[in-house]
Amino acid sequence: MIKTDIIIIGAGPVGLFTVFEAGLMKLRCHLIDTIPQIGGQLSELYPKKPIYDIPGFPSILAGKLVENLMEQASPFNPGFTLGERAEKIVKNNDNSFTVITDKNTEHNAPIVIISGGLGSFEPRKPKIDNLSFYEDKGVNYMVKNPENLNKKNVFISGGGDSALDWAIYFAENSDNRVGLIHRSSNFRAHKESVEKIFLLEKQNKIKIYLNSQVTKLKGENNLNQIIISDDSGNNTEVKSDHWFPLFGLIPRLGPILNWGLKIEKNAIVVNNSLDYSTNIKGIFAVGDINTYQGKLKLILCGFHEATVAVKAAYKLINPEKKYVMKYTTIQGVQGFEKNN
Ligand SMILES: Cc1cc2nc3c(=O)[nH]c(=O)nc-3n(C[C@H](O)[C@H](O)[C@H](O)COP(=O)(O)OP(=O)(O)OC[C@H]3O[C@@H](n4cnc5c(N)ncnc54)[C@H](O)[C@@H]3O)c2cc1C
Repeated sequence: MIKTDIIIIGAGPVGLFTVFEAGLMKLRCHLIDTIPQIGGQLSELYPKKPIYDIPGFPSILAGKLVENLMEQASPFNPGFTLGERAEKIVKNNDNSFTVITDKNTEHNAPIVIISGGLGSFEPRKPKIDNLSFYEDKGVNYMVKNPENLNKKNVFISGGGDSALDWAIYFAENSDNRVGLIHRSSNFRAHKESVEKIFLLEKQNKIKIYLNSQVTKLKGENNLNQIIISDDSGNNTEVKSDHWFPLFGLIPRLGPILNWGLKIEKNAIVVNNSLDYSTNIKGIFAVGDINTYQGKLKLILCGFHEATVAVKAAYKLINPEKKYVMKYTTIQGVQGFEKNN
């Protein structure tokens, strides 16, 4: 059981900034995110796009903002459960909450702050017979531990940045047999990545199957072979230990709808005149996931909401203490030791 002061569901920009604000108040945080990387929409949808409305930054790349937010939060040593979706929240007799993920990791804290954005990013799955049988037995929609896949036959499907980035990674970094399968001959990924992948093919580090799709999966207990069919009707059977269909992610509120929270317009209703608390005492919602009159789904609004919510969380955790706001220019940033 992971124990902390605040469980943050969603490691997007608002969740990351929540760690910093909580740290200033000497509260420790642990973040959970369905995707194996931090940054939410900024990392998943537009890492290379400049953002122009972050105060103090006339222009900053989304990926760089995520890096900066992580650097700002790092003195407070947040914990992470990445690649797992928060599935259930249980209220305990001592009024604390236990948050359980789809991989059964349990987290306990007196406060939960939901910064789940548009919902958890779920993979777009291909339509293939027996797909679910091979999930986690050779078929995965995210690459979590690439270092464990050395000397394996790895196939990737997709034509976007994620598919090409991983195909390049495996072709360059490991002793794999690597294949990239794409249903068209045009790629959506960045031009440099497309040029790189064809160069790697020339160097025999990867085999590219264009105008092709995986149509069949085979293997007794685990994935062993895939059948690749091209648009002319030719089928190629190849040995494959791992197949990553990387067709992008779509956000879904999913389990959040079942937690007894008041929901309107696909978002969590909060008290914005006070502290962004939800209808369940001890649970707050900040960033794109919440709704109230006049709500704007902007990063800077989420930062403000997180700051206010954390102060209310402090009062719930320390009812006997008086909270006095101090400027960072006066108190500085006193980080935490690891595991302390
Ligand atoms: C193309 C594009 C351009 C944009 N440009 C701007 C801009 O210029 N300026 C601006 O201010 N905003 C912009 N936005 C909006 C901005 O990205 C969002 O306001 C911001 O990402 C919200 O941050 P967040 O932390 O609330 O949520 P998100 O960034 O959506 O992060 C939420 C995270 O929560 C996770 N999550 C959700 N549910 C669960 C669960 N049950 N378990 C585990 N994890 C979960 C998700 O996987 C996700 O990673 C843009 C958005 C897009 C798509």
